[in-house]
Amino acid sequence: MIKTDLSKWDYPAPPRSYELERAPYEQIREIQDYGLKRLVNYCWEHSPFYRKTWEKAGVHPGDIRGIEDIFKIPIVSKEELQQDLKQNPPFGTFQGDMSACRIQSSTGTTGMPKPFFQTRRDWDIIGNLWARRLNAQGITPADRVQMSLSYSLFIPGFTSTEGVMKLGATVIPVGSGAATSTERQVILAKDWGTTCLISTPTFALYFADVAEKMGYDLKRDFQIKRLIHTGEALPKALRMKIEERWQVPAYDNLGSVESGGAPTYECELRNGLHVNEDAFYFEIVDPKTGKNVPDGQEGLLVMTTLYKEGAPMIRYSIGDFTKIISEPCSCGRTIRRIASVSSKIDDMLKISGVAIYPTSAETVVRKYKEFGSEYARLLTKLPIKML
Ligand SMILES: [Zn+2]
Repeated sequence: MIKTDLSKWDYPAPPRSYELERAPYEQIREIQDYGLKRLVNYCWEHSPFYRKTWEKAGVHPGDIRGIEDIFKIPIVSKEELQQDLKQNPPFGTFQGDMSACRIQSSTGTTGMPKPFFQTRRDWDIIGNLWARRLNAQGITPADRVQMSLSYSLFIPGFTSTEGVMKLGATVIPVGSGAATSTERQVILAKDWGTTCLISTPTFALYFADVAEKMGYDLKRDFQIKRLIHTGEALPKALRMKIEERWQVPAYDNLGSVESGGAPTYECELRNGLHVNEDAFYFEIVDPKTGKNVPDGQEGLLVMTTLYKEGAPMIRYSIGDFTKIISEPCSCGRTIRRIASVSSKIDDMLKISGVAIYPTSAETVVRKYKEFGSEYARLLTKLPIKML
């Protein structure tokens, strides 16, 4: 039983999070209900973007008694945030009025980078949520974790670093290959006895290429036992390629700058991504109707950041296609799981009316051992007679 005054719920890191991760669902729901009501009341008073959106939809905070009423709140799209930023530069009115300790942003692959405020409390909590990820993936205070994501406006470099420290492990903050050359990263990993690498999945392959080119053997010369990935999708074929190469488990962690950090993580079983459900509420909706689909059915992910003070997201459609796995996980955690993201709506290309996702190319490319670790997709429209 989680005995606490909900107003003091602090989204703890392990070991204090053990109980929450294994609590009966009704108890998690109580925390979610409280978080949603707090967020809705706050945004009504302090976030003109949400108030305007809800007034237009005829929704008042009094209508939201808890998660059971969340469907009354309109879904927010990336385009609507973009519009708010355009009309109210430079930060928009969705950030709220809490003082930010830092601003992180999207990478801007689909337009200008979108800024997201983080308060001091947000930042602390994100570190705790990352620590839960690392703990579930077998990291202990004895580990030396080399962090090879970039330290920039891109959020997971910093947040994963916080998580390693919160867990009591040691972080080696090398940053991306642009900050510390990959050759140097290879030498540091070897000499300093790195036991875990946090990176994008493709960097783990590139690291392996460089290490082998330098004459090292991945098994003999390194103590790396785990590869922790985020920042890119980890389709099955890519994971198999990485694990075959390194002979250690590679873990998938779906995140996004809009979420703040660490909404989901795989456990040791690597069978779906557990959701940090005290801090987030995830729904899957039909992309056409916006209505919730039953558990197990694929649809668009809609996210609510229950814990957030800066730039809260309420029913935000993040553009990922996935499904909820409601069956309990044999690891003992009761917090629910989602399936690995099958595709992102932003990456979809409509070719002659057929939706094509990068993950479909990935599955084909990774089958061939002759290919290196990187590939590019080139889209051309040839006249029919040339095909
Ligand atoms: Zn599990």
